Amino acid sequence: MSKKIKKRKEIAKILQEPKGMHDVLPVDEMYWSRIREVVSEISEGYGFHRIETPLLEFEELFQKTVGESSDIVAKEMYTLKTRGGDMLALRPEFTASTMRAYLGHSLGRLGQPQRLYTFGPVFRHDNPQAGRYRQFTQANFEIIGGQNDPVYDAHIILLSMRFLDILRIKGVSLRINSIGCRVCQPAYRRQLQNYYKSHEKELCADCVRRAKTNLLRLLDCKEQGCVKLREHAPNILDKLCVTCSAHFKSVIEYLDELKISYVLDNTLVRGLDYYSRTVFECVIEAEGREFGALAGGGRYDYLAEFLGGHATPGVGVAVGIERVIGVIKAQGIVFSSKQKKMVFVVHAGEMAKKKAFRFVEEFRRAGIYVKESLAKDSLKAQLKFADKEKARIALIFGQREIYEGTVIVRDLENSLQETVPLDRIVEEIKKRLK
Ligand SMILES: [Zn+2]
Ligand SMILES: [Zn+2]
Repeated sequence: MSKKIKKRKEIAKILQEPKGMHDVLPVDEMYWSRIREVVSEISEGYGFHRIETPLLEFEELFQKTVGESSDIVAKEMYTLKTRGGDMLALRPEFTASTMRAYLGHSLGRLGQPQRLYTFGPVFRHDNPQAGRYRQFTQANFEIIGGQNDPVYDAHIILLSMRFLDILRIKGVSLRINSIGCRVCQPAYRRQLQNYYKSHEKELCADCVRRAKTNLLRLLDCKEQGCVKLREHAPNILDKLCVTCSAHFKSVIEYLDELKISYVLDNTLVRGLDYYSRTVFECVIEAEGREFGALAGGGRYDYLAEFLGGHATPGVGVAVGIERVIGVIKAQGIVFSSKQKKMVFVVHAGEMAKKKAFRFVEEFRRAGIYVKESLAKDSLKAQLKFADKEKARIALIFGQREIYEGTVIVRDLENSLQETVPLDRIVEEIKKRLK
């Protein structure tokens, strides 16, 4: 390999993002700013308060809550040992951190339940595929504390569906299930274990392993043999205890009341240790479940106890922002950005350029939306740029006008122009842009 080619290859490598990481470019700003707007619209409308937790947490936090046997902890966590010898992990999700913060700061004292939301990156060393990254963004909404009232489950599901609806995403289907509680789930697990034991030869290799560590996950395996097997697997909904059954029925009744349609899906288990009772996912029906859920969540009434806290009910949802944006693009949804009325400052000559630079700042401070291309000296080039930016008004700072203490105001819609004294210009522009 020639030196030149080698060098070029080195440069190409250094310009790449690490596998599964991605730059968000200005061309996607429309989507991200709309998403941020919707996050704040939803949080305000449904009464959630922002909480920010660190990117790094003790590895143990996730081992104890998400669970050692979950894919997230077993295979996907980014961990590191600090110089001080602590074992930390880049957060693979938000719920455990939010509960840690809730307990650690006794947030329950401020009133219960607390409605908390987070927005930011999470990290999973997963196999990157369409819409799936190793660093991705989640918006989480959690209701923690108070009663484990089914109305809160419905509240979380409602806002999840509303979130996707505001973004005008079509074909969203709600899948919902109950995975029971400490009373009824163990008996169901035993039944499931017996069922799969008698069919062990038909299971895929992953499921043979999972049967020992994360049994419920056998239900959502995508391998053909396993999919076929689960058709005759015992159904959790038949095995719920009276309390879980009443709780689930009540969640469903709230959804009926809200006219939110849903699919009962007894193969939906979510695979994290902290879930109990309600679990749900918002998926795009047309594309099947291969694209992954846009949002998913459920109830986690035992999570606080995993962290040594008092029994504290909780229910929440995580929205996968990159997946949502992927669907928005695939469905061709465009968000119209309101064209703000803008002035464009143009100069002719070195002295005028200085004056123009100063006035651009004055306009900004007066709340006027202003743009310039001061580094371009040709008047023609500047006016062309003003046109491209769809400016309403061009302000032309000329050499002669500077001496006279004036500026030319040109209406770019009808090309009429007028000379205005500089000390009245801010007022004049405000009037014209109204
Ligand atoms: Zn139960
Ligand atoms: Zn399988």
